[in-house]
Amino acid sequence: MTEEKIGLKDAIKINLRGLLLVYSLVPGNLFMTGLFIVVDVIVSYWDYFFLAKFVNDVVLGSSREVLVWDVILVTIGQTLISHLYNLLHKFWYYSGSNSWELPNAHLNEKIMSMDYEYMESESIHNRRRDIDAMARHSGGGVCKLFWLATPVVEKIIQMMVALGYTAYLVSRSFVAFPGEPVKAAAFVGVFFLAFAVLLTISTKKNKEAEEKMYRYEEANVPNDRQYVFYTTEYMEKEECGKTIRMFHQQNLLCFHFENLMKAINGNVNKMGKENQKRNVWVGAVEAFVSGLVYFLLAVMVSKGAILVGSICLYAGCITNFLHHFRWCLAQCVELYANTKYVKMYLDFLDIPNKKYEGTLPVEKRDDDQFTIEFRHVSFRYPGSDRDVLKDFSIKFHIGERLAVVGKNGSGKTTFIKLLCRLYDPTEGEILLNGIDIRKYDYREYLSLFSVVFQDFKIPALPLGENVAASREYDADRVRSVLERVGLGELLRKMPHGLDTPLYTDFDKNGVDISGGEAQKVAIARALYHDTPFVILDEPTAALDPLAEYDIYSHFDDLVGSKTAVYISHRLSSCQFCNDILVIDEGKAVQRGNHEKLVQDREGLYYTLWNTQAQYYQTEG
Ligand code: ADP
Repeated sequence: MTEEKIGLKDAIKINLRGLLLVYSLVPGNLFMTGLFIVVDVIVSYWDYFFLAKFVNDVVLGSSREVLVWDVILVTIGQTLISHLYNLLHKFWYYSGSNSWELPNAHLNEKIMSMDYEYMESESIHNRRRDIDAMARHSGGGVCKLFWLATPVVEKIIQMMVALGYTAYLVSRSFVAFPGEPVKAAAFVGVFFLAFAVLLTISTKKNKEAEEKMYRYEEANVPNDRQYVFYTTEYMEKEECGKTIRMFHQQNLLCFHFENLMKAINGNVNKMGKENQKRNVWVGAVEAFVSGLVYFLLAVMVSKGAILVGSICLYAGCITNFLHHFRWCLAQCVELYANTKYVKMYLDFLDIPNKKYEGTLPVEKRDDDQFTIEFRHVSFRYPGSDRDVLKDFSIKFHIGERLAVVGKNGSGKTTFIKLLCRLYDPTEGEILLNGIDIRKYDYREYLSLFSVVFQDFKIPALPLGENVAASREYDADRVRSVLERVGLGELLRKMPHGLDTPLYTDFDKNGVDISGGEAQKVAIARALYHDTPFVILDEPTAALDPLAEYDIYSHFDDLVGSKTAVYISHRLSSCQFCNDILVIDEGKAVQRGNHEKLVQDREGLYYTLWNTQAQYYQTEG
């Protein structure tokens, strides 16, 4: 969480940008909100104005017709305008409800389109969590702007109207003291001095209280993160459920959770106390000011400067002004404090993608003749001081099968991440048909690859959409790949065919699938995309070596003339490949077929093969 102090000018800029962003989320929002504000201002003065006019008309003995119109305007006019106000309020409230969700949609889009390396950065995830925590805990951040800023604008306009009436009232003091301008000015001056002193006290108390309350609110942000961790990320997770039972963690977790709740409630209580203290002060000040206002008005009426009915209007205006002033001040303090969270949100959206995106189209070759070359590639992860790949050079052609084997942590997945440009090499270059892959249009380049990663995920969506990764798809082709990966039987059993949701998390009509079936869906997804390269990056790590061998060799039959890259730390899984690359500590140390590699008794392959052999029943 950033602790830098934001100046007033920057705060205004940040809030304006945030506000425009929130308003742009619902079409017509800005116009309708403007209309809502105007109507709201009219509604708030309608009563005072026409009531004052009515009393004055009675006092002045106006005609019956005028009085009837006064009554109509006070009753029917007020009803109609209130009705319009309610309609507009409904729209405004509806837009406001969207304003909770839509900024999240922006964040999700951002998260899904930012450079992949950010996805592996804990600090990026923490930034997102802080934005969420503030929004969840107190509605803070960009959503709060909508709810705070609109009423602030509305109240400022109301205060301006009140000031206009007050200015007129001041001018009437010269009528109250005709020919005595000094006395008239002194009378109003003393009144305004008292008014200003009381207002200053009230402002100071208000500001102090709001700042303190916001600090307590803020103190609950990290608490909220912990709250989410304990509840949704730990206590409710089935993986953790086993550990909780195994190690009887219940008491330990309850102890920490209760302490956390005490901290959260403690801050909420402190906020309540501050609010109470502030209300006592402000209430007393407002009572004094009201007394002063009535005194001033009584003098003005007694001196014939204003009519008695106008007391309603002027008293209403001044009371409104006081009330709105206090309210606006509180909101402005909150808006100012909230700026930090609006900035956090906007800064997140502004995180620049660093990856250079070329423009070269990828050559569409009928013969699908692609050559990939890693030329002296070294790579270290951002923030790390260790090269994960070191002077790594290999070349392979389309149609070939390449197996990449090596111990866990040797750099196999990193090799795939670089191949797919999820990261760029720190040194050296990767070439596609002799051209640096950075020069290609990234979308086009990516469309050459289908990868089934070790930690693949199948979202709880309909089966067809899952395989096609799209709402629209060629159903026959989806069926055909499902058949090819051995899920034909499962598909036939699905109650709604390809429209059947997978898993029951979000839909009780969904169908739960096993880990093995999920793997096949992931493989079907890779095949459906019919790309020149397909890569299996140990999506089978949870299986035993024999099952993995089965899947890999079966997959090899499925891929036909495509280039397939198989990653595994188990040598047995890849022995069917003619081209096996052995990686060790980020270096390409051996290459050849199984028979050749296993004969090199000095080589790593031989050592690994013999170490792992005890687990296989299919030794070569
Ligand atoms: P393999 O696939 O061979 O098991 P990886 O390519 O996943 O190995 O990892 C190689 C090394 O890089 C490991 O030491 C791993 O800890 C490290 N590593 C992997 N991902 C990251 C990351 N995002 N940040 C820092 N180090 C990483």
